[in-house]
Amino acid sequence: MLQCSRCHVQIRGRKRCCPLCGGPLAGEPENPAFPSLPKRKFSRLSAVRLAAFLLIALLTSDGAMIYITGGVPSWIPLSVLSAAVGFIDICVTMYYRNNVLKTMQVQVVTGIVLSLVIDAVTGWHKWSIHWVMPVAFVGVMVTTILIGIGLKMALQEFVLYLLLDTALSLLQWIFLLRHINTFPVPAVTSSAACILMFVGILIFRWRDFTSASSRYFNI
Ligand SMILES: [Zn+2]
Repeated sequence: MLQCSRCHVQIRGRKRCCPLCGGPLAGEPENPAFPSLPKRKFSRLSAVRLAAFLLIALLTSDGAMIYITGGVPSWIPLSVLSAAVGFIDICVTMYYRNNVLKTMQVQVVTGIVLSLVIDAVTGWHKWSIHWVMPVAFVGVMVTTILIGIGLKMALQEFVLYLLLDTALSLLQWIFLLRHINTFPVPAVTSSAACILMFVGILIFRWRDFTSASSRYFNI
């Protein structure tokens, strides 16, 4: 243990000088009582850099495809949009990393709305309702569960996001029932998968759901 001859105190750990008076210390330093956390290897900045690089790489290859094919292939807007939303998503997630799930939900809903708008503006090929919405809803459900497990969260901390995603996935039935969706397989599969995942949680983890509900809605 280290000692300060001026303050007559003993100091634990490895200190260069006395934390009280700043004076020199005598004695042998010992290993600190608490372990120090290793530094984060993958920082926020490197995540944003990686995302920016992927965005530029995708935009470049899209540009190359437009040149090679001599036109604008129908999937190019989708590719550009998803890359842009993905990039914003990663930046916002890194900025608000304390609530990754909330950030993700907002970004996914924004992405879906954007894709609907862009699809409508660019000739309404319906790729937004045929593909973007089905993939987005199942994707956000699975990602929410994986992030929850990855962050070692209790199910009751993120089960309401899953309820929200399931409810949102049912919006696809507006397009299905009004026969706007002319290629229903992905949308039907997607909403069925979301409902199944959520029903599974309700049946097997009912208590997590009710305790989360009572916490958020005071039911
Ligand atoms: Zn001292």
